[in-house]
Amino acid sequence: MNDNSSLTIRGIGAAPGIAIGKAILLERGRVPVPHYRLFGEQAVAEECKRFEEAVCEAESDLETIKKSIRSEFQEHARLLEVQQMILRDPSIYNESLRYIREERSNAQLAIIKTLRKAKELFNSLSNDEYAMSRIADVNAAGDRVIGILAGQNHTNLEHIHQRAVLVAHDLTPADAIQLQAGRTLGIVTEIGGSFSHTSIVARSLGIPAVTGVENAARLIAENDLLIVDGRTGIIIINPCDRELQFYTNLQDEIREYLKQISRHAHLTAETLDGHRVGAEANIEAVEEVVAAKDNGAEAIGLYRTEFFFMNRVELPDEESLYRDYHDLAELMAPSQVTIRTLDLGAEKLTSWCPTLEEANPALGLRSIRLCLHYKEIFKTQLRAILRASASTRNIRLMLPLISGMGEIFEAKRIFKEVQAELTQKRIAFDKDLPFGVMIEVPSAVAVADLLAREVDFFSIGTNDLIQYSIGIDRSNEHVAYLYEPLHPGVLRFIKQAVDAGHDAGIPVAVCGEMAGEPLYVPILLGLKIDSFSMNPVALPRVKNLVRRSSMKECCRFVEKIIRMRTASEIQQAVSKMVMRKFPEEFHVFDPNWIGNTTLPVMKNPG
Ligand code: PEP
Ligand code: MG
Repeated sequence: MNDNSSLTIRGIGAAPGIAIGKAILLERGRVPVPHYRLFGEQAVAEECKRFEEAVCEAESDLETIKKSIRSEFQEHARLLEVQQMILRDPSIYNESLRYIREERSNAQLAIIKTLRKAKELFNSLSNDEYAMSRIADVNAAGDRVIGILAGQNHTNLEHIHQRAVLVAHDLTPADAIQLQAGRTLGIVTEIGGSFSHTSIVARSLGIPAVTGVENAARLIAENDLLIVDGRTGIIIINPCDRELQFYTNLQDEIREYLKQISRHAHLTAETLDGHRVGAEANIEAVEEVVAAKDNGAEAIGLYRTEFFFMNRVELPDEESLYRDYHDLAELMAPSQVTIRTLDLGAEKLTSWCPTLEEANPALGLRSIRLCLHYKEIFKTQLRAILRASASTRNIRLMLPLISGMGEIFEAKRIFKEVQAELTQKRIAFDKDLPFGVMIEVPSAVAVADLLAREVDFFSIGTNDLIQYSIGIDRSNEHVAYLYEPLHPGVLRFIKQAVDAGHDAGIPVAVCGEMAGEPLYVPILLGLKIDSFSMNPVALPRVKNLVRRSSMKECCRFVEKIIRMRTASEIQQAVSKMVMRKFPEEFHVFDPNWIGNTTLPVMKNPG
């Protein structure tokens, strides 16, 4: 490879590590839907043919997917058949053709109009789960045809067998959960920030990722050799020998460092002066328990249950939820397992849940609000969690995105209703099951003293707390520079929540990404966080730093930085401190240490 052929582009370092491999380009992201009128009979005839062919292709795609479904999920094949039937239903198929012929709409517009009509019909029938599922089927079937009409090839990520770097405009959290750590060497996306759920999943799987890479899908061609530096956000397309050598060495250094600290991953997270904190894992699927245990997790501090609801064509039933929670509790017993109730909405979408037309989905009907709205779904999940708690008694229940006391009262009322129903049916459950909330919204911080009297524990979700307190979308690459975990306002909020929790005698954890970032270990220790819950891969690094810290020193340090005025002042003080105390950690992981890495906001070539 000659030295002139390489091109360096930049994005946002979203999951640390170095990936070197060939690129696979994926068609992902919203399909643009052109609207236009057809002129002349020939144009109409051609558009009808285009529509008919797209439906045939959609049918055959569904057939292929049906054949590849594993035997334990055969019931889902039935739902794909439902989609096939929807496509041929006269109210969809004939009606779309009618729009093309009579109103001279292009095929995409015709199918969108037809789908809208069908959904209105279901909505008018009822607002229950059956109608929701049917709307979801109609959406899924329609989206498939619209994608085909736009020339999109929506590869199922489970079907990618090469070991490669995936390059896409966007990867949704539902896509990310299908990634296979061994096969996906790295991820590059054009949009997204480092605190989006896709980045979180990449970190959990230990896959280096760079997001917000402007024009990536245009600058990178299929099979280009890529170096992806997930720490700095640098991507080198077709690197020269010198660059390849440099990054291969760095990859070896990182591996060697991780190997060394992993030897101590099973020791307790106790500071030099004897202060012990919890070191727990965040997981998105029960399968991750293996990684959590391997990396020294003492408990599961956050199970993001919504991922179990994704990539499914229908709402999971109580029995499958029960089995999932029961397995998790058994695998971890006697250690604790914190099950968070559904946190769907915003970027975490599923095909069975109706897409709401919301101008600001992050401020919309998501998370606990969605659960309190669709009460039956919430009750089903609560029943499954309670039933699973019966034998091992190590489950804790946690509610996300609580914004005030009203939601706690309502959630508790429903919880008690479910408990009463189970008691009446003589179904066993843990009567002392701890009930906690996440602190993720500024209003929850403001009333944390009141919340603390109603619950058994707090867990601070810094990902959302930062988003809502600074008022920026955590997944938006354009404002990623404002996503400042060290903003004095954020640190003060964390302190306020911890103090309120401790005054009421309840423990306070952090389960946002801050807990898994080694740079923040001294700060969170100094803020007196009781346990750190993070992606499993981060545990050895964080534990290593906790074990080498002095609690007294961290408290003094926090007293000093909490009075500083800007995030960058605090960042400088933190960098100075950690680089002095933990030079090896930051030699391999901190981009500033190796020299080339301050990240100017730079436009990639168009
Ligand atoms: C958080 O917001 O910090 C959190 C842990 O929840 P999630 O990232 O799933 O929104
Ligand atoms: Mg959150």
